[in-house]
Amino acid sequence: MHSDKASSCVASELSPNVLALEAALRARIGNRVRRHEPMARHTPLGVGGPADLWMAAAALDELITAVQLARQHHCPVLLMGSGANLLVSDRGVRGLVIQNRCEGTTFFMHDEPSVLALSGTHLASLARMAARHGLSGLEWAVGVPGTLGGAVVNNAGAFGSCIADCLMRAELFTPDGERVWQPTTWFEYGYRSSRLKCIPAGSLDSFVVLRAELGLKRASQSEIEDRMARFNAQRQRTQPDGASLGSMFKNPPGDYAGRLIEAAGLKGRQIGGARISEHHANFFLNVGQACAADFAALIELARETVRAKFGVEMELEIQRVGEWE
Ligand SMILES: Cc1cc2nc3c(=O)[nH]c(=O)nc-3n(C[C@H](O)[C@H](O)[C@H](O)COP(=O)(O)OP(=O)(O)OC[C@H]3O[C@@H](n4cnc5c(N)ncnc54)[C@H](O)[C@@H]3O)c2cc1C
Repeated sequence: MHSDKASSCVASELSPNVLALEAALRARIGNRVRRHEPMARHTPLGVGGPADLWMAAAALDELITAVQLARQHHCPVLLMGSGANLLVSDRGVRGLVIQNRCEGTTFFMHDEPSVLALSGTHLASLARMAARHGLSGLEWAVGVPGTLGGAVVNNAGAFGSCIADCLMRAELFTPDGERVWQPTTWFEYGYRSSRLKCIPAGSLDSFVVLRAELGLKRASQSEIEDRMARFNAQRQRTQPDGASLGSMFKNPPGDYAGRLIEAAGLKGRQIGGARISEHHANFFLNVGQACAADFAALIELARETVRAKFGVEMELEIQRVGEWE
């Protein structure tokens, strides 16, 4: 779903730094770099204004080169996986947006099996590949949209498990321009949080997740597939269809964001084209031509109403990126 409202945002003038970056990128990757690309085309929610520059990277060398060039030109660079956790502003994103399409996996069937995967690999595909190898540990991920890189940053999880449970190490491209492997402890994981998620997306201090190795356990393929089928069925029962970002807010300690929003009487509330699902109140849907401002207004309404009625401060699970007022 694309929002014409979002796409029709007036594109801003490109700064001299961005123009120089565009020329440098074109010299390396040709016409695949696009100017004023509507982000609504590249986010599952279907909202988001123009990125100054946008490109997709399908190989690690290309990804690293693009990040290096952006840093050399002092341009912010936002690395996206699938955008499944991103609310991109209607004004769009200044600098360069790179969509990570670097995919690839190697399974090591040692006594302690593992899989090494490029960060643009889709997490759900990785879970299905692991099942075909008779490897357990990623069943929870079969219905989670997005890439391995996004999951490493967000500590994605479901059904009581998360990426921190199986991550052994990840290779990062650092702000200093080095490739470094870091163990799981380095990431300081918490509930849907990590030390990488604390760094503002797009900032010049950002790390890039290049690859990750996950430890898995041998199990029978049919048992693994049964568990996946049960998790998928539970998702279908409890979560709405339609364009969303999954859970909008984190669950506050001892409670559920969806329960609080529902108890605040907000199920079905709509602003513009954004609506709080009647099926699950922590899912906010694009029901047609929504723009990012509609979602931002609905987020504030939910946050303020829950605070006023129950005294609970809800923290966003999703990330707002781009240029906001
Ligand atoms: C229908 C639906 C259901 C969902 N269910 C769940 C669920 O059950 N559990 C759950 O945890 N989440 C869930 N989500 C949210 C989403 O799937 C996860 O947050 C996922 O990990 C996002 O991955 P992504 O690749 O799309 O990351 P993006 O949304 O593109 O990016 C997220 C963050 O990671 C950064 N990033 C991405 N890739 C890299 C990289 N290679 N290096 C450095 N930084 C990077 C981005 O800059 C950004 O800060 C759901 C979303 C939807 C739409």
